[in-house]
Amino acid sequence: MFPRIESLNDLKRVIYLCVIPLFQIALGSNILHFLRGNHQVVLIIDVSVFLWFLLCWVFLYKKRFVNYIEMINLVIVFIMFTALFINTVNNGLNENGFGTYIIWSPFFIGYIFITLKEKQAIFVMSLFLVITIVSGVLVYEGLNELARQSIIQFYFAHFVYGITMVFSRHIIRAYNLIESMKKEAYYDFLTGIANRVKVNKLLEINIKESEINNNIFSVLFFDIDRFKHINDQYGHDIGDAILKELAKLIQDNLETNELFGRWGGEEFIIISRKGLKDAVRRAELIREIVEGHAFSVVKSVTISFGVTSYTKGDTIQSILKRADIGLYESKNNGRNLVTSK
Ligand code: GH3
Ligand code: MG
Ligand code: MG
Repeated sequence: MFPRIESLNDLKRVIYLCVIPLFQIALGSNILHFLRGNHQVVLIIDVSVFLWFLLCWVFLYKKRFVNYIEMINLVIVFIMFTALFINTVNNGLNENGFGTYIIWSPFFIGYIFITLKEKQAIFVMSLFLVITIVSGVLVYEGLNELARQSIIQFYFAHFVYGITMVFSRHIIRAYNLIESMKKEAYYDFLTGIANRVKVNKLLEINIKESEINNNIFSVLFFDIDRFKHINDQYGHDIGDAILKELAKLIQDNLETNELFGRWGGEEFIIISRKGLKDAVRRAELIREIVEGHAFSVVKSVTISFGVTSYTKGDTIQSILKRADIGLYESKNNGRNLVTSK
């Protein structure tokens, strides 16, 4: 339903595209309400704002002038909210309270905080509070008890919304930091796939599950053939590009349930929930896919496999040792081969 969200700006754009129609509905019902009365000025303002937001929606949809629209709308919304507050406390707060105005307040405060940097947002939020407090104090004498309570609750509510936004920003930032730290700790910087630490953890989990539930799993360990030649002939950067291209190729051809990681250098591991026979078949298929793939620059790359299955009492070291012996045999027998152990 939504386009792929790839950046903070994209996310903001999607939020605006969803919120503007809601705002338009509220504005539209206001317009219908005022059409019946005699409020020419309010009607003209509402219709102009309605048309402006319609235009904004179209521009946002087409990804045009997004930053300008954001800033202009912040000014418009700020003026509208402040003017509405002043109008409400001067006319009819005693009888009607704040009414539907309150519903939009969290959006307004949220908008300030997603549009501006923290310090600027706090400044704009404080400016709004100062203006509303001053205009509230000026009419305070003339308000009845209920209206006085509403106006004080209004200030508290907006103060709380502001504080919540500041905290939310810090919490989101902390979550992002934890996520990126996890990513750095468990994922390979060059290829983006699981690194050795993560692969070790996955092996540990699989061994535990096999011990408890008698699950079977196999390890498909592979290494690029004559990679030193590729580095020597084309340079380290091309070597890096081959590693990335190979990792992507394998990832695109993984079955559900298969786990894939870089063990180190140009050695990779696939953990499969298959028995030895089927795992060897998978390794053969992957070997053929790599052999048949036209790599950029180098054109042809081959890989050799050592395949083994979990047997009772295995440790990470014992499984990898067997897979490594298989790989060694594949290399010794001419490379571009699969050997099971
Ligand atoms: P074999 O067929 O026996 O595997 O031959 P090989 O040349 O591939 O030999 P080996 O596996 O021992 O060589 C690994 C080479 O991989 C050595 C090292 O320079 C290269 N290498 C390891 N990590 C990286 C990397 O991140 N980027 C690049 N470009 N090269 C790497
Ligand atoms: Mg190699
Ligand atoms: Mg190697």
